[in-house]
Amino acid sequence: MPFSDLRAFIAHLERSGNLLRVKTEVDPRHEIAAYIRKTSDTRGPALFFERVKGYDMPVVGGLYAHRRLMLEALDADNAGAVATYIEALDNLLDPHRLACAPCQEVVLEGPAADLRTFPFSIYSTRDRSPFITGGVVISRDPEDGSKNASIYRVEVKGARHLGVLAEPPHHLGVHIQKAQALGRPLEVAIALGAAPAVLIATQWQAAYGVDELTLAGGLLGTPLDVVRGRTVDLDVPATSEMIIEGRIMPGIREPEGPFGEYTGYYTEVYPKPVIEVTAITHRRTPIVQAVLTGMPTTENHVLKMIPFEASLYAMLKPRFPGVQAVHFPGAGGVGLFAAVAMRPRAPGEARAVLATILSTQEPKLAVAVDDDVDIFDLEKLMWAVCMHAQADRDLLMIPQLIHWQLDPSVLDRKLGAGLGIDATRPWGESFGDLVTVPGVERVPDLSISPPAR
Ligand code: MN
Repeated sequence: MPFSDLRAFIAHLERSGNLLRVKTEVDPRHEIAAYIRKTSDTRGPALFFERVKGYDMPVVGGLYAHRRLMLEALDADNAGAVATYIEALDNLLDPHRLACAPCQEVVLEGPAADLRTFPFSIYSTRDRSPFITGGVVISRDPEDGSKNASIYRVEVKGARHLGVLAEPPHHLGVHIQKAQALGRPLEVAIALGAAPAVLIATQWQAAYGVDELTLAGGLLGTPLDVVRGRTVDLDVPATSEMIIEGRIMPGIREPEGPFGEYTGYYTEVYPKPVIEVTAITHRRTPIVQAVLTGMPTTENHVLKMIPFEASLYAMLKPRFPGVQAVHFPGAGGVGLFAAVAMRPRAPGEARAVLATILSTQEPKLAVAVDDDVDIFDLEKLMWAVCMHAQADRDLLMIPQLIHWQLDPSVLDRKLGAGLGIDATRPWGESFGDLVTVPGVERVPDLSISPPAR
């Protein structure tokens, strides 16, 4: 990935006509979120908010509002993005520690560190507080010292007071649980406005104990520069716009939420760990990155797509060489719905692929189609389901499976279920000819330029 920091990616998006500068004043209470919602729903540009009501700092949002913008970050097409990610997984690089770094140009400790002086957004209608949604939370296992870096939602509750949702088996949740059992505080650092490679690396479903920042190095093709925190013994990405350092105290739980989540529904309020902030460091002129989640598809969903696809593809391909591509559509929140394009080599192989997907990466819906179907186009995917599958012949249901934590349909049951649909054409049967129109590729570009603003 070519971008060493957020600013380089913003500059690239602007040069390539993928970034709009919003010059009217916007309110971080819902209004920034509304702009990002709109650009997400209309496949519009990323947004740079120059004037934020009540603050003297700009906000950038919707950087990955749709998949095309993520492919810009990876400098790849759909197939190339998955290949890039898999190659990086095979070339993990330990971070490289610098003595000083841009993210510490300004250091605020004690009362000078005040979260209320930064334009964190309030997103969805029922959210009561600002949330930090694109923060990479870095921590270490208090027993074996192994590292974790992943995005967790963080509620801004006061000047130096944050709530965090991170429960086992999520790795930060395990760290919190272990520190609690030891009766010790857990140090954390939250990196905001990190390079695209850092954000996408944190969405890797890495094994416990594996440092996701080594994948950021793999993606960059060079070790990720890090710097030691000022008040915590943790290394943070050097080119981040801002770092929040703090400690999670054992035994303290406070209500957190509600918050509009990636399922398109709110999660309810219940007691969760809190972070006591010990320092805030930032660049001299920081850019605050807003990341919207909620009803699919948003940048929160897009961030997960390619990491999830790469790990599923890498898992399936050696066993089922006929698998050509996989996709986690936004419709399933990226996780609950997997699509696979394949060339079955034997009757029943598509069902074997579906059973494998349902029992490993645990989507609740998996669909297999022939590899001439564009699985990135939901309409074509459902066309294949409608024209190639029959309910009595092509469904596969696995009851009593692990389910996604926030799946609103699980209710009070402990377990979910997986549905597979084999929408590959019936094995070995003649299926007639696809209807096409000749010469479409020779028709000139038909787009009409929009009227001047
Ligand atoms: Mn981890």
